Amino acid sequence: MYDVIVIGAGAAGLMAAATAARNGNKVLLMEKMEKAGRKIRISGKGRCNLTNARPPEEFKEAIRTNADFFDVAFAEFNNKATIRFFERIGVKLDIERGQRVFPKSGKAWDISNALVDYCLDNGVEIVYNTRVTEILAIDGKVYGVMFQNKRGFTRKEEADNVIIATGGVSYPGTGSTGDGYLFANKMGHTIEELRPSLTPLRTSHPQKKFLDGLLLKNINAQLFIENELVKEEFGEISFSERGIEGAVALRLSRDAVDAIIEEKRVKIVLDMKPALTEEVLFDRIKREIAEMQPDEFFSELLRKLVPKHFVIPIAHELDIHSKNYIRKVTDTEIHRLIKVLKGMVFPITDYAPFEYAVVTAGGVNCDEVNKYTMESLKVKGLYFAGEVLDLDANTGGYNLQIAFSTGRLAGQLKK
Ligand SMILES: Cc1cc2nc3c(=O)[nH]c(=O)nc-3n(C[C@H](O)[C@H](O)[C@H](O)COP(=O)(O)OP(=O)(O)OC[C@H]3O[C@@H](n4cnc5c(N)ncnc54)[C@H](O)[C@@H]3O)c2cc1C
Repeated sequence: MYDVIVIGAGAAGLMAAATAARNGNKVLLMEKMEKAGRKIRISGKGRCNLTNARPPEEFKEAIRTNADFFDVAFAEFNNKATIRFFERIGVKLDIERGQRVFPKSGKAWDISNALVDYCLDNGVEIVYNTRVTEILAIDGKVYGVMFQNKRGFTRKEEADNVIIATGGVSYPGTGSTGDGYLFANKMGHTIEELRPSLTPLRTSHPQKKFLDGLLLKNINAQLFIENELVKEEFGEISFSERGIEGAVALRLSRDAVDAIIEEKRVKIVLDMKPALTEEVLFDRIKREIAEMQPDEFFSELLRKLVPKHFVIPIAHELDIHSKNYIRKVTDTEIHRLIKVLKGMVFPITDYAPFEYAVVTAGGVNCDEVNKYTMESLKVKGLYFAGEVLDLDANTGGYNLQIAFSTGRLAGQLKK
């Protein structure tokens, strides 16, 4: 008989299990995959952006849902505490641009390995290839779980407390396939609609087939919903067969996805020369033309202004042949070019599915969870931690911090 069973050895579950064990509980951590922390291992492009060192007010702005609910968990174990915690358990960290915190080694697995060691050092028993299939409760109180062991047999394990830390439904290959939502729902919890967030956006732009592989740096992107400007971001954007991605597009995706679901008109307008006014850009283009040979092509002028990949799409957008002689380009055409460089419009018609989404928006309704303990307000002894909750944030280390803070708080349960 265990005091606590934790379901899921991701960021939240590992933190919750170790914390509960440190508090004197006999803890069993059940993970359905063959190893722990698979999502941590691929996070931050394999480098794991584990938190963000911004001050609390700015941190809160990055939390997209239920920020007030999250406040309590964050106050208990905030970004500074997370940094101290990892350094104490032996992972050296660096703070990079945008206050994003990474392991100095540049290896995400240093974070998951350190958490697993921390669990084991504190006496957590971890079982892999073990999938929880049901939560057992009677008279509004949890008493254990049913699970399928690695040989495929169904077994029962009893415990006074169960922490659901099964993650969301994004990148299901890492093990997060949404089981926790089913468990919670069966226990009477409301699940807020699940949507992919921080996910590539799909455009109907006629030139999209030429854009694959294009990376644009230092651009300004504006998100319009029903022709109203709702968000503006500066940074990097890229194009792939998955859609428009890169930090800027992902940050815009949270609002864009909701708007698409509501069947609203969505577009992104890119300013590729945000540092230059139209007048300054006009003078610069005129200067470039003056320095060129008259029999050079329009494409060669474009090459001086945008990355190679973008030359043909821009020529098509302007309906000017890329092999036109530069001497034939008129001032009117230069003004049209400026309009495109400073305001190319990408209608957004769809978004990439959960398979490509960094996080899942939606989840267990936070009004039904005690924010001071993470315990269910419906079933005693049932707790939640991490992405399974209706909590999500921007890119920049905030989502892992949600997992660490809520995991830490859930693990502080009383014996
Ligand atoms: C590609 C990618 C990059 C990311 N990069 C970053 C980043 O750099 N910074 C950041 O802050 N966030 C990042 N995120 C988001 C972040 O990784 C997640 O929000 C966070 O890992 C969620 O932690 P979790 O513990 O709640 O869930 P998960 O990490 O998803 O863990 C859930 C665990 O539960 C297990 N499980 C599920 N069901 C069962 C069951 N029935 N029985 C037993 N076990 C079960 C799963 O196998 C899994 O191990 C990234 C996400 C992705 C997909």
